[in-house]
Amino acid sequence: MNPTKRFENKTYGIFRSILLVLALTVCLSGCGKHQKADEKEPAPVSYADRYIDLHLHLDGAVTVEIAKQLEELQNIKLPAADDEELKRLLTVPADCESLNDFLECFNLPLSLMQTPEGLSEAVRLVAENVKSQGVIYAEIRFAPQLHTERGMTQEDAIRAALDGIKKTDLKVNLILCLMRGEGNEALNEETLRLAKKYLVADGGVTAIDIAGAEALYPTSNYREIFAAAKEAGIPFTIHAGEANGAESVRLAIEFGATRIGHGVRIYEDPEVMKLVKEKGVTLEMCPTSNRQTHAIEDMSKYPLIDYMNQGIKVTLNTDDMGIEGITLSDEYHYMEQMFHLTPGQERTLLRNAIDAAFTTEEVKASLRAELGLNYELETWSVK
Ligand SMILES: [Zn+2]
Repeated sequence: MNPTKRFENKTYGIFRSILLVLALTVCLSGCGKHQKADEKEPAPVSYADRYIDLHLHLDGAVTVEIAKQLEELQNIKLPAADDEELKRLLTVPADCESLNDFLECFNLPLSLMQTPEGLSEAVRLVAENVKSQGVIYAEIRFAPQLHTERGMTQEDAIRAALDGIKKTDLKVNLILCLMRGEGNEALNEETLRLAKKYLVADGGVTAIDIAGAEALYPTSNYREIFAAAKEAGIPFTIHAGEANGAESVRLAIEFGATRIGHGVRIYEDPEVMKLVKEKGVTLEMCPTSNRQTHAIEDMSKYPLIDYMNQGIKVTLNTDDMGIEGITLSDEYHYMEQMFHLTPGQERTLLRNAIDAAFTTEEVKASLRAELGLNYELETWSVK
């Protein structure tokens, strides 16, 4: 039996097990009619049970539990009487109408990360939280310039975050975000300088990004700073094609981005789709976030599978799990429900994420091995 055949047989076995589990699940949910009214349904589980999250904002990943622990650590009084009120403050409101409104939701989490101990502990707690949800590798991103309200410098903030990743055994790298905005050019320059200083191949700062209001501050404003990043050999991803259209993605690729944060709107321009495919650029897609910020109005047209079918490298990520009230497992399950995402397609998403991770080839090889993703045998899963 050749290795491919053996692999297929093994896969068939796994599929059969999954079908049995699904059948059992259907049966059990049918029996749910007999549940007591106050009994909570178990959270749905996706086919995949281990994940890679490449697009995870630290300040967007603060849950009620994490906020309470940061409150206690720093002797801060949260502006909430109970957990329910705190949850309301931390999660996106139903009437959040745009990306700009969505960005307002970060104020409370950010206020909890203005000291070295608060920021370090936030990184550790977020890492531990995603690890408990099955994530085996995460790239946590944050903007050092947003952590200087109580005396920390950007460099202090980076050191605190590095301290946080040392205290978790989850494999984590950091992405430093520049911020779109007005009058913060010097702050972005400083972030870039520090990215150069702290850049490592793995186990620390491995890339930069730009976050913030894309529609208000277009990607074209940041040509020079990304030229400097490229010159310095700093890998980068750019939030683009989310609040703005495909042109923003075209520019980001022109600047040298190897990954695009979201990029969901490239369908608006077939030429940009072609460019993304030809350059092998990876899209960090985040469905719930895109729904909540109205980057996509009709989720039945969410282009994840279309992009995959066209040979574009896409990945699934959380973006802001605390604000959105989700996990990465939820996102996989969401796409299974919406588009019948298959186990094979999920493996492709995971493989794409490993391929595009800002880390070393050694780490990538160990992640593939951990997920049982043999590179050569994976072409079968692209449908
Ligand atoms: Zn993002």
